[in-house]
Amino acid sequence: MGLAIAYNLARLGLTRVAVLEASYIASGASGRNGGGLRQQWSTEMNIRLMQESIEICAAFAQQMRINVWMRQGGYLFLIRTEATRVEVERNIALQNACDVPTRMISPDDARAIVPELEVDGFAAASYNPTDAVVFPWPFLWGYAGAATKLGATIHTAAPVTEIERRTSDFLVRTPRGTVTAGRVVNAAGAWSPRVSRLIGLELPNWPARHEILSTEALKPFLKPMVSVLESGLYFSQSLRGELVGGITLGEPKTDQIKMGSRLAFLRAMASGMTEIMPRLGDVKVVRQWAGPYDLTTDGNPIVGEAPNVPGFYLCCGFMGHGFMMAPVVAKYYALHLTGRQTHAFFHKWRLARFSDGDTEREKMIIG
Ligand SMILES: Cc1cc2nc3c(=O)[nH]c(=O)nc-3n(C[C@H](O)[C@H](O)[C@H](O)COP(=O)(O)OP(=O)(O)OC[C@H]3O[C@@H](n4cnc5c(N)ncnc54)[C@H](O)[C@@H]3O)c2cc1C
Repeated sequence: MGLAIAYNLARLGLTRVAVLEASYIASGASGRNGGGLRQQWSTEMNIRLMQESIEICAAFAQQMRINVWMRQGGYLFLIRTEATRVEVERNIALQNACDVPTRMISPDDARAIVPELEVDGFAAASYNPTDAVVFPWPFLWGYAGAATKLGATIHTAAPVTEIERRTSDFLVRTPRGTVTAGRVVNAAGAWSPRVSRLIGLELPNWPARHEILSTEALKPFLKPMVSVLESGLYFSQSLRGELVGGITLGEPKTDQIKMGSRLAFLRAMASGMTEIMPRLGDVKVVRQWAGPYDLTTDGNPIVGEAPNVPGFYLCCGFMGHGFMMAPVVAKYYALHLTGRQTHAFFHKWRLARFSDGDTEREKMIIG
């Protein structure tokens, strides 16, 4: 989010833009995710945002001169229960009204798309052939490189440790020096509540560990991202051949950011994958890792200027879908900050919606 906003600001001609990154580029969730991009959402705003984001992603490689390994092989959501099917049917009607070609298909039709699937016990599947996956790292390098070329400055190993609010600006302190800024955007993901606390602002989002793994590279056989809606299991095959995927493991709510890997995850993932695709029993797992989801109670992010702290902006709480939303959200964020144009999400996703009781739940949350 931070890099993408900096790039979009620099593109609009602002050159006094600094990104302060506590660690290295891609050290946070953006360097640890599954690279899934989908348009299957339950609210019109999220569907339309993701339509635009996928367009930006499709042009990204050429525009930024970097290979992001994008593959538009679709997303196939397997559905176990009738209740989920009815809910997804409603979402599909909304997606179709927005020209997203999602369709409800039978388990046998799902097998026609992915013949290796074991579909016993599934009621239906929802399939959109225009959803996609990318390799996340080059996205970050692409944004960082292009933002720097356009005049923005990126400081790594520069954790923000203090923010002092003055009459008309902020002093943002790091162990490597202090930046004076007219405006500050807190795009620290799962760390954003800690960063906001530096200015005395409490945020309602909280971190949750999400684990993921990668297998050895296999001959290309799997086109869509396959996911089981009820369990949160998902995996896709990257253009390089590995299967990359995760599953939700419940954990008590905490404000600690945990990124350790667990055997319990490996077990749950292995049994989840082999249950729906028995031929994966022989496949070797080469790596597993974890990153922080950044959760909110209604499944939507928190954006815009913080109430009572003029000049301090929020761009956080992106759950498990902030990677796919960054290209489009950052585009409108830069337009908003420069006063050129705003977007409805600045109202819908404002921090005050929680205290105003004005939330609309996003139901297509995986994990
Ligand atoms: C395993 C996993 C799989 C996922 N799969 C997907 C997916 O398929 N598709 C998708 O769209 N999303 C996915 N997500 C979610 C997605 O990765 C996040 O929503 C997104 O990357 C959030 O971006 P961000 O910029 O808000 O946060 P981050 O990428 O976490 O960036 C925040 C940065 O702030 C830095 N920071 C922290 N404290 C400070 C400080 N004091 N000073 C300066 N810098 C600081 C951190 O070092 C970090 O680099 C997944 C997440 C995980 C963990």
